[in-house]
Amino acid sequence: MFVESGGFGGLRKRYEGTDADLPRSACAGLKAALALRPAKAGSACGRDVICYHLIVNDGEKRQELFFDEMTLPRELAPLVRFLSKKARPFTGGHLCHIVPPFILEKMAVSPDPQVRRFALANLSASAEARAVRRTLAALPAMSAIPSPEGRKHRLIYDAKHRDVLPGRLIRSEGGPRLKDAAANEAYDHSGATYDFYSKLFGRNSLDDRGMALISSVHVGAGYSNAFWNGEQMAYGDGDGKVFVRFTKSLDVVGHELSHGVVTHTANLDYQDEPGALNEHFADVMGILVKQWRKKQDVKKADWLVGADILVKTSTRRALRSFAAPGTAYRDDPDIGSDPQPAHIRDIYKGPEDYGGVHINSGIPNHAFYLAAMGIGGRAWERTGLIWYQTLLALTPRSRFQDAARTSFQKAGQLFGSGGREQTAVRAAWKKVGIDHR
Ligand SMILES: [Zn+2]
Repeated sequence: MFVESGGFGGLRKRYEGTDADLPRSACAGLKAALALRPAKAGSACGRDVICYHLIVNDGEKRQELFFDEMTLPRELAPLVRFLSKKARPFTGGHLCHIVPPFILEKMAVSPDPQVRRFALANLSASAEARAVRRTLAALPAMSAIPSPEGRKHRLIYDAKHRDVLPGRLIRSEGGPRLKDAAANEAYDHSGATYDFYSKLFGRNSLDDRGMALISSVHVGAGYSNAFWNGEQMAYGDGDGKVFVRFTKSLDVVGHELSHGVVTHTANLDYQDEPGALNEHFADVMGILVKQWRKKQDVKKADWLVGADILVKTSTRRALRSFAAPGTAYRDDPDIGSDPQPAHIRDIYKGPEDYGGVHINSGIPNHAFYLAAMGIGGRAWERTGLIWYQTLLALTPRSRFQDAARTSFQKAGQLFGSGGREQTAVRAAWKKVGIDHR
């Protein structure tokens, strides 16, 4: 049996379990939901009320229902209450990190004892597990602050170097700047990401329903990562040796928040090729937010992800490179060598990193870069629009081939069949070894 819900301030949550796990009142609500005729369910989601989108499935029957506060049947109220407290945010049960596990594992055997010490603490993952559990307990009521009028709604919390999320609220929408650079960056960069989606694609926040953008800064002690947990962003300050504070990079913030957009659109499985596409779209949108903000055309852009969060040395310059996957860092004593392939013949097929989601994303990333260079100009205007429309059309099990075919079709629909854009998109996928058909 499972129940999925939207609403709760735009959060999408999923509860999976047996009927016996549900409290009796919620169980009665589930039965009532299954028995309802969908035609009887209220479907008009008002713009200033909280809406609920409920999918219930008892293994035999699946029922999809829409309610708002006014039309929610009384017998379903205990089920909705239960979900707002107990259901997990819809991320498939994982956290979307910017720094992949294979980099952290390298750091754990670094010759530098300080790098090793922090990396080992990070790898234990206990801090994150605690953070996620605490989030689930703490957030539902607080994050139920949708902004359906299409306004930004940012909330910045200070976790005070502890691993409990979200921490203390230090700045909310419209509040004055603080002395804390990480807090201001989280505020500014999440605002830039909101504006990017709103102005270019007419999208109202990550869920297109005005979901609040919640960020916690100073998460953990020397924590070298940032993650999206389905509800909010969490940023570490870095160990100071390999990584600096994770709010510093606009493309990192854009990347993480874009995982929220992916969740609310194609919702690509975070495993194997669909997972690499999930990472790919987060990288594309992250890098486009940066180029848009800096007004850089395709030739001026550096096409690097995460350049600002690394302490740079001669052996490392970024986390990933669109222009030349596999070259962002090489023989680095702390983080090893960039494993990203640029062509399908070199695709990673092992089990690490959810089947190489941060590795194989190099292939579509490079295709995007080649398409953008072929189309020219400012990448967010045409290539970005093609990719955004592609994301809206894909589904959880989509693979590289599907992305290639769909982007080829979208390029034709948006800019004309056989035009420069469509030709460039086809050539780009072909160059990374993927046919557009
Ligand atoms: Zn990611």
